[in-house]
Amino acid sequence: PARNSSDAVAVIGLGRFGASLALELMAGGTEVLGIDPVESVVQDLNGKLTHVVRADATGEEVLRQLGVAEYGRVVVAIGSHLEASILTTSLLLRFGVKDIWAKAVSEAHGTILQQLGVPHVVFPERDMGRRVAHLVRGSMQDYVDLEAGYALIKTRPPSSLIGKSLGQADVRKAHGVTIVARHPDGGEWEDATPSTVLASGDLVLVTGRKRRVEAFAALT
Ligand code: ADP
Repeated sequence: PARNSSDAVAVIGLGRFGASLALELMAGGTEVLGIDPVESVVQDLNGKLTHVVRADATGEEVLRQLGVAEYGRVVVAIGSHLEASILTTSLLLRFGVKDIWAKAVSEAHGTILQQLGVPHVVFPERDMGRRVAHLVRGSMQDYVDLEAGYALIKTRPPSSLIGKSLGQADVRKAHGVTIVARHPDGGEWEDATPSTVLASGDLVLVTGRKRRVEAFAALT
């Protein structure tokens, strides 16, 4: 186990999702213990994570020996093996691990994990499908589903706002959204203020209730 176990993260299941998450944590300077029962998976990640162990995480003794309970944050990235996902997660809950993140592959799987008491259940395929749908539709260049019915999007501003300051256009009142930042054609992202004037070719970051940001993007 990592010396600084409270800051380190244990990632159980190193499939496409788990491996990508683990590598991203490493890239950001977080120590990672990776666990997967498949030898080739473990070999691929050997040397790229702080520790990589070939093990079946459904074994209570295995988790104890690896000191997984001492990790402040544990990610269960086992998707398609439903039984293994549920068994591993219940063991972690029994050990008293507080910050558990578990991947669900279906709504039913997610409901079970939530009922067990997992604080963070993520639905990568469902969420990515939704996000890409917005991109395919074409009115947005990025879409991030936030909690509680809010979203953050990247889009072009509607032509009605070009040449006006955000304060003058009263964007919040008129559209029910907040423009957070602006990217002029060929320039850099800058924070938006009431005196920001939008030009054609700009991109904007917009946040607000999903319905409102979707309607805003559709005006483009
Ligand atoms: P993805 O869609 O992200 O590739 P999968 O659900 O297909 O996710 O893969 C999950 C990973 O979890 C696989 O690499 C698999 O070997 C691993 N895994 C399956 N059972 C266990 C287990 N009991 N303990 C730890 N890892 C497991």
